[in-house]
Amino acid sequence: MAGFYNGRNGSDQLSVFLIAAAVILVVAASVIETELIRMAVAVPALALAAWAVFRMMSKNIGRRRNENDTFLSLIGQSPEKRARRADRKTHRYFRCPKCKEYCRVPRNKGKIRITCPHCGEQFIKRT
Ligand SMILES: [Zn+2]
Repeated sequence: MAGFYNGRNGSDQLSVFLIAAAVILVVAASVIETELIRMAVAVPALALAAWAVFRMMSKNIGRRRNENDTFLSLIGQSPEKRARRADRKTHRYFRCPKCKEYCRVPRNKGKIRITCPHCGEQFIKRT
């Protein structure tokens, strides 16, 4: 079984979301009594589940990763944001006053002069 997953995308946040949405729709469909409406809910649920399985089995990992990154930014979880959250204990992020890009600096260095790596602007902050 392990060999089967070699070189495949596997599960990511988008696939987990698709499966969760599919499960919710299937549960919703199971309590709907009108046949037509039940099918109108169940068919998209199956489509979502099929899409999730397709993404996990896919060997086009770069493409799937792009889709996942797009999904994460849609829900406000861009890769940059996640990186910022991950090293929040050791680093601080300041917005450059000139170009508004984020500058990453180590924490607990006292007052330091920060040179923006994007535009070269210098500003002083307490870290
Ligand atoms: Zn700048």
